[in-house]
Amino acid sequence: MPSPSLGNLVEQLVVDTYASHAGLADRARALITAAEQAGDRRSADLARLIQAELDNRNGRVPEAVQTARTLLGTSNDRLVRAKAHAIIAGGVWRIGDSATAVGHSLRSVRMLQPGDPATIRADHAIILAVLVNDQGLHELETAEFAAAQREAEASGFPELEIANLNNWAWCAYQSGDLDAAAVMVERMRSRAETAGRQLNCSCADTVARVLLETGRPEEAGTVVLDAIANAPATDSDAVPAALLTLAEIERRRGDADGAVRTLLRCRELAAERDRPESEAEALRALAACHAGAGDFETAYRRMCEFHEAWEALRTRQSAVAAKFAHAQFAVEQAWDVAERDPLTGLGNRRRCEIELTAALADGGPVSVALVDLDHFKQVNDTYSHATGDEVLRRLASLLDAVPGFAGRLGGEEFLLVLRAGATEAASHCATLCAGIEGHDWPAVAAGLKVTTSIGVTEIRPGEDRKDALMRADDLLYAAKRSGRNQVKTDQNHSAVRT
Ligand code: GH3
Ligand code: MG
Ligand code: MG
Repeated sequence: MPSPSLGNLVEQLVVDTYASHAGLADRARALITAAEQAGDRRSADLARLIQAELDNRNGRVPEAVQTARTLLGTSNDRLVRAKAHAIIAGGVWRIGDSATAVGHSLRSVRMLQPGDPATIRADHAIILAVLVNDQGLHELETAEFAAAQREAEASGFPELEIANLNNWAWCAYQSGDLDAAAVMVERMRSRAETAGRQLNCSCADTVARVLLETGRPEEAGTVVLDAIANAPATDSDAVPAALLTLAEIERRRGDADGAVRTLLRCRELAAERDRPESEAEALRALAACHAGAGDFETAYRRMCEFHEAWEALRTRQSAVAAKFAHAQFAVEQAWDVAERDPLTGLGNRRRCEIELTAALADGGPVSVALVDLDHFKQVNDTYSHATGDEVLRRLASLLDAVPGFAGRLGGEEFLLVLRAGATEAASHCATLCAGIEGHDWPAVAAGLKVTTSIGVTEIRPGEDRKDALMRADDLLYAAKRSGRNQVKTDQNHSAVRT
């Protein structure tokens, strides 16, 4: 039986994040190891971001955002960067910064292209729809939900459709549109049924809330009890949230004792899982229960506890938010804006300096390669400047696939910093040179041919890096003079024909 490709495993993990978290952390870890062994950096980084999503959903927002930030600083892979934005969006949304969240979420959607994995397109669209809507301030923005639903359907995974319908129903419920909520709940239930999927605890909780508010409390009770006992769980606050719903059903049924027991259970579970929001909600509901039963002394005590828990939560959230804002500023200043070439997404000249310094500081052999497009002026003249730009973008992806750092020095000249000695570096460059020549350039423009000349040299111990770069430049021009489309190295003074 053929084993599923790493890319398929990533997609399945993205889907399962929405369905059930059982075994997911282990699978993500195993996938990182497998992808690293296979040299598939994209899959490894995407799996890291899935781990970050699990952090987000389990009350560990700072860890999640940190992972995503780190990858934004180190990866030039468009898909990885898009998903990192989606993770940051989910993180800052959870600590109450909706405006920043929507900004990141929009980027995560706009960075994707039609041929990208359908699950990731759906994933980002689903996040955008819920973030745009879950602010409780305005009417439902159904366009975003509808768009996410189309992406979810296109992915072929009913789990994604169900997840989006759940968000849609929940946001409709929150905005007070019970009719729309009831419609979406029915759609979600029937989709789950036809697909043979069990609703997870969060989805079942939405069903119960909507049933309760639309005059079907008995059915709501059955659904939520069953979910607490049997449903697959995702977010670590899903069961506490379902317990809050159950307590509300019990309270309205006149079973005050049952409601209090359920709420104490909710509070305990929330504390165990470090979900202070759910803990605070449980305290507030407890106060309401005791007040309803005429026990104002206990109600007052619970209300004080709630107030204290709520204050602590807000303080914690704003401390985290302030730290994020500062880190965000630092990252954008240092790297995203000031050190990234906007056309290709590669590091710019300044970033090249930093990477070279870092590589030399790490010890071990370091080689530098200068890569220059051959007769690039003719590409612009014969085709168009836009075609030339597309060539530069594609060349950047080819360069980025070389193990090491790739940056754009300016124009059509690029630098590779390789943590490797002369022989290994020359061999990477030869592969690169051949890969560029063999790339599917006619897909960019009919008849288009693109080649490069490369000069590569190892930095000698104690040598000024400027001297090494000058040597690489001399080698590059030697390659040009020898007919272009080749690598020159000073290792044995011979050209490596590709
Ligand atoms: P050689 O093989 O000797 O390197 O020839 P060449 O034509 O590549 O070299 P030359 O230095 O004469 O021309 C470089 C061209 O690169 C000229 C410039 O218009 C083009 N170029 C530089 N930056 C960009 C860019 O951002 N986009 C596009 N489309 N063209 C660019
Ligand atoms: Mg050139
Ligand atoms: Mg040039």
